[in-house]
Amino acid sequence: MPSGSTPNGHVANHAKAYLSPQQAMAELARYPHGDGLSLEQLMNSSKFGGLTYNDFLLLPGHIYFKASDVSLQIRVTKNILLNTPFLSSPMDTVTEEKMAIALALHGGLGIIHHNCAPEVQAEMVRKVKKFENGFITDPICLSPKGVVGDVLDIKANYGFCGVPITDTGKIGGKLLGIVTGRDVQFRDPEAPLQEVMTTDLITGQAGLSLDEANTILRDSKKGKLPIVDKNGNLVSLVARSDLLKNQNYPLASKVPSSKQLYCGAAIGTRPADRERLRLLVEAGLDVVVLDSSQGNSVFQIEFIKWIKETYPSLDVIAGNVVTREQAAQLIAAGADGLRIGMGSGSICITQEVMAVGRPQGTAVHAVSEFAQRFGVPTIADGGIANIGHIAKALALGASAVMMGGMLAGTTESPGEYFYHEGKRVKVYRGMGSIEAMEHTQRGSVKAKQAILGSDNAATARYFSEADSVKVAQGVSGDVADKGSLTKFIPYLYTGLQHSLQDMGMKSVVELQNGAREGTVRFEFRTASAQMEGGVNGLNSYTKRLFA
Ligand code: GDP
Ligand code: GDP
Ligand code: 5GP
Repeated sequence: MPSGSTPNGHVANHAKAYLSPQQAMAELARYPHGDGLSLEQLMNSSKFGGLTYNDFLLLPGHIYFKASDVSLQIRVTKNILLNTPFLSSPMDTVTEEKMAIALALHGGLGIIHHNCAPEVQAEMVRKVKKFENGFITDPICLSPKGVVGDVLDIKANYGFCGVPITDTGKIGGKLLGIVTGRDVQFRDPEAPLQEVMTTDLITGQAGLSLDEANTILRDSKKGKLPIVDKNGNLVSLVARSDLLKNQNYPLASKVPSSKQLYCGAAIGTRPADRERLRLLVEAGLDVVVLDSSQGNSVFQIEFIKWIKETYPSLDVIAGNVVTREQAAQLIAAGADGLRIGMGSGSICITQEVMAVGRPQGTAVHAVSEFAQRFGVPTIADGGIANIGHIAKALALGASAVMMGGMLAGTTESPGEYFYHEGKRVKVYRGMGSIEAMEHTQRGSVKAKQAILGSDNAATARYFSEADSVKVAQGVSGDVADKGSLTKFIPYLYTGLQHSLQDMGMKSVVELQNGAREGTVRFEFRTASAQMEGGVNGLNSYTKRLFA
């Protein structure tokens, strides 16, 4: 019998003395750097080349809190705080007013595209800004000489029909009454408002706080509370429906002082874009995105300086950039935020055609690491195809992500659904696609003529106006019906909370600090690791993302 063996042949286990379970945590001191790689180690290994989101993973951390406790609050520009890090791309198949309203209600920010006449774009901004209010400081009013038909027109154009009646028909005039939906229901459109308006009014006195106004409104059980000065002149209006919106959308992105939804819009950097911007600012724009596929140009740098001088309170998101050098130029010019990405978009063929660009993971890290020293937030734009990509973009230092393809095909994206090979789809196309450039614009014939000239937004972003041949940098296709944002954004939000919980991070800020300090750990993903991480070995399966 060999030494160490027992009579029944088993090897006796007496040679090794194990550590006690109580020593497990102390034993970790033998691995001072932790498992995996720090963010710097991940990024500095040049032999791997530029990284994309799929090339790495985060290692799990310690969970000591509920997923619902994870805060996704971020600063998207120097001055604008959002409760969710979701932005929509300024593309004509992604963001018009419906998308911008829905996204802002759910805590994100919509950037309205500029592939339309300036007036059309400004009207979209106005609709977003009018959607929710604290005090409505510019309510639409009518005079008693107006008729029921005028109220019906307002309803058709703006969607509301609570109209204060003043002697001048304007704000500032003496408040005489109010007309609401039921006052005009079943009435002859020619009937004068004098006959239908309600004159027995409950009003608030100018100078009261919004809280006080809301209390009067609640107790009065009325739909509107007109606010008047001591002479009885109308100064503003408060709507009960806004209290409901505030209750239903606790994460909404709102300007703290006015309670209006934040709205962003994109423009080019041509001289004509100065006039476009004037109209957008007049409509209440909060943040402008300078839409250029290569942001490091004298045109953009001069434009940023001009905007900061002309509209000091308007936040400017500049870009696009993928290097620290590009970022430095735009930060120096005064950018309040940077948009990162060149060639990473799902509809994009820039890298293929231009040979210029950068893998998105590396670009997001390089630019964010640089920009954070100046307090300039960054937005990872393009290439987001799932919640994991969003989590990774944030871990690499971006404050927010901008999504095109992910939000296309939703109820709130522009365009009609149609069927393609049996699937319900909507068009989704790159703004550098020939189709985007050639499309027939919304708006008046005059507006169409204005755009179809050299100021076409798609042309401005991707082509030179002098080119006789248009070289496309994007494709046109379609994406599957994703349903409404009312379900899709909560899916992204909740999924992202769970992702951060797995990392042991209670907030985006904690995640980014941890990544910078090296306590958040990363791991490369080989090609076989990527296969392992995907579904495999099944004969067939269905992939339902949320229920
Ligand atoms: P909240 O209390 O968490 O909703 O914090 P907010 O800063 O959003 O709101 C402060 C006060 O303003 C509360 O009394 C809200 O009911 C009220 N409020 C918020 N949004 C609106 C709005 O859109 N319209 C009106 N009328 N009141 C609002
Ligand atoms: P109404 O009863 O038909 O007037 O409509 P609601 O009260 O349901 O909705 C009015 C919504 O439009 C609120 O969110 C207001 O903040 C918003 N709104 C924006 N501008 C105006 C305005 O000039 N007048 C009115 N009545 N509402 C406005
Ligand atoms: P996605 O979220 O679909 O991956 O990418 C959307 C982003 O792609 C947009 O925000 C924009 O930066 C970029 N993009 C939009 N249209 C085009 C295009 O035609 N060509 C290129 N290169 N990028 C585009």
